[in-house]
Amino acid sequence: MDGTLLDHHTYSIEPARPMLAYLKHEQVPVIPTTSKTCAELLALREHYQLDGPFIVENGAAIYIPHGFFPHKPAGAVWSDGYWCKSLSSPRLHWLKIVDRLKKDFPNSFIGFNDMSVSEICEATGLPPADAELAAQRQYGEPVMFTGDSEQKSRFIQAAQHRGATVLEGGRFLHLCGDVNKGIALKWLTDTYTQQFALAQAPTTIALGDSGNDIAMLEQADIGIRILSPTRQPPVVNKTSGLLLTSSRYGPEGWNEMLDDYFKNMP
Ligand SMILES: [Mg+2]
Repeated sequence: MDGTLLDHHTYSIEPARPMLAYLKHEQVPVIPTTSKTCAELLALREHYQLDGPFIVENGAAIYIPHGFFPHKPAGAVWSDGYWCKSLSSPRLHWLKIVDRLKKDFPNSFIGFNDMSVSEICEATGLPPADAELAAQRQYGEPVMFTGDSEQKSRFIQAAQHRGATVLEGGRFLHLCGDVNKGIALKWLTDTYTQQFALAQAPTTIALGDSGNDIAMLEQADIGIRILSPTRQPPVVNKTSGLLLTSSRYGPEGWNEMLDDYFKNMP
């Protein structure tokens, strides 16, 4: 979402409105896919009037609103109006690993779970209401590492040894399962095909602007890189399908590329 459907600086969705309206009219589902938590996305969905399924925490779980599919998807659980399919161990699993790491790395890090909302605000720069939603992680644990770089690389190795995938981002190390947006997209496409007994899978178009979008851009039939004002487009090794790159940033690029595609569709 960030930097793709939403403007990198202003979070505006406005330039994408024409194509969002077109896709709604044509009954093409738009699936917000994000590293954010379910709690954060629920607030955004309402704000931006997006009402379909969505993928959270970098592909750790897929949420499907009641009534979208005719049947309960295999392995999904009912959660407050949605079928939720998780592709990762729950947060508790990662918290136990963090607890064990505390013994080997005393006073070298602090996890979200041990931080107050005001500490999270200070570390992330988020206002309190947003920090509270960001803290409601269900499938991983961000830790702020305060030790030196040698300790940090030992910490990462120890976490990996215990089965965690470690993503480095800003001031945080994120301990989570081996998930990505591409695996989640594949699950949703396969499930969609099954649920509606389609003879062939629907065509998928993925749009993204950064490294955590690569697996999704590679998985989709059509991967579209959206230009970012702050970084180079991600390097995508697409072995099948089509890879395109927008000429405009964020939601303007999103609208431009989908408008082109649907206008020129065979
Ligand atoms: Mg993004």
